Amino acid sequence: MKEFISILSLCLVLTGCQNSTIQTYDSTINITQTTEASTENVSTYKINVEETMLPAIPDYTGTAFVVVNNNVPFFSDNDLSNTVFETYSELDELGRCGVAYANICQDLMPDTERESIGQVKPSGWHTINYHELIDGNYLYNRCHLIGYQLAGENANEKNLITGTRYLNVEGMLPFENQIADYVKSTNHHVLYRVTPIFKDRELVCRGVLMEAQSIEDDSCVFCVYCYNVQPGIGIDYATGNSWIEKDIIEASANNESQNITYILNTNSKKIHKLSCSSIADISPKNKKETNLSKDELILQGYQPCKICNP
Ligand SMILES: [Zn+2]
Repeated sequence: MKEFISILSLCLVLTGCQNSTIQTYDSTINITQTTEASTENVSTYKINVEETMLPAIPDYTGTAFVVVNNNVPFFSDNDLSNTVFETYSELDELGRCGVAYANICQDLMPDTERESIGQVKPSGWHTINYHELIDGNYLYNRCHLIGYQLAGENANEKNLITGTRYLNVEGMLPFENQIADYVKSTNHHVLYRVTPIFKDRELVCRGVLMEAQSIEDDSCVFCVYCYNVQPGIGIDYATGNSWIEKDIIEASANNESQNITYILNTNSKKIHKLSCSSIADISPKNKKETNLSKDELILQGYQPCKICNP
């Protein structure tokens, strides 16, 4: 197990080098019939991830996700094809979701409005409103493992977990959007796997591992862990019970105003240090202050400025 953890070797900095470790594959294989992936592989993978992933993940420190394995997903070479599939694990004896795995392409994407999913009660579910603290009011969302916009699954209980608003919106959504935008604009395929990571027999997962690899090129690749947390709220993951953490709220409120990390040029998509000389030249309509990390900005398509080298 130690070896596996060292392979994971969490890396908090996005490197651009993942391309060198991505295998080449034959793009002439073009089977578009929907098939089921091997469930045996799915369950083996699940055990490996759950035993090895959580100990290697650092505690949440204010960023919605961390990059895992130098941003290289753990797919096997055999899976890197155009074969379209979507699979969802059976709920376990505690009623918990497992790995959701799909090859996303335009064929899977929905062309109808999302239907109601309110009848599904994922493991650890509570309807709880912190209207003064949470944008969207409710602590928990029914979070799709494979987002609705990608595979069009509605009230599929094998695809819905108890996830915080923060996990849903700050953690998972930007990555789902990245896949959706890529597939819509290219008509390519993206191998995509989302694994909720539970600790022991807890009913609410600690986070989700999200892995993506585009098949026809290397334009859409990530391997990240998103935290199932809500800043300012404490969560008992065994039951889903929650409470307001007063200290955290005050600390984050104090930080928010002072915690500007970078200046962005939203037009040229450059990240600048606050001290950069070229900030003066940015037109006001393209200039934006941010408190996001460099990792988060790079994943949003920004590049570090070559002058100030943030
Ligand atoms: Zn600069």
